[in-house]
Amino acid sequence: MVFDLKPIFNNEGLSVSFDYTIDLSALSHGGVNPINEPVRVFGSIKNTTGIVSVDAETDFTYKAICDRCANEVTKKFKLPITRGLICSRADSEDEGGDYITVEDMLLDFDEIATEEIVLNLPNKFLCKESCMGLCPICGIDLNLNQCNCKEPIDPRLEGLLQFLD
Ligand SMILES: [Zn+2]
Ligand SMILES: [Zn+2]
Repeated sequence: MVFDLKPIFNNEGLSVSFDYTIDLSALSHGGVNPINEPVRVFGSIKNTTGIVSVDAETDFTYKAICDRCANEVTKKFKLPITRGLICSRADSEDEGGDYITVEDMLLDFDEIATEEIVLNLPNKFLCKESCMGLCPICGIDLNLNQCNCKEPIDPRLEGLLQFLD
């Protein structure tokens, strides 16, 4: 959604709420399209004593492949987005930080939400911290099954094992 900020910049105390969804099903990350369900974006843009800021949250569910066991897992995510808004001037180049520079008083919040989501998607993902992964020898999912493959023995331990015999 694109917001016209002119009335907000011109009216101290004005607050505009929003609650809508964006479609990120075409978004590609790590070779997959992780977000198939609509992303909820909600919050408000307000003018507090002349300072305009946006305070929002995006809620979304993403699918990811576990880095250890290759199972597909879905995870819910809540991502807050809070930024001050400043109007661009031809002479100001600096951007980033906690401020969003708005051109022509128009704020494309879909773009900001999408950028923020992409930045926060994990590059490595585990289905659970204790995931056992796959057996490197037979490929079995060790979370579900056990196998009889022998763990390679650390050569430093081999002497000790002989000693124990
Ligand atoms: Zn896993
Ligand atoms: Zn095995």
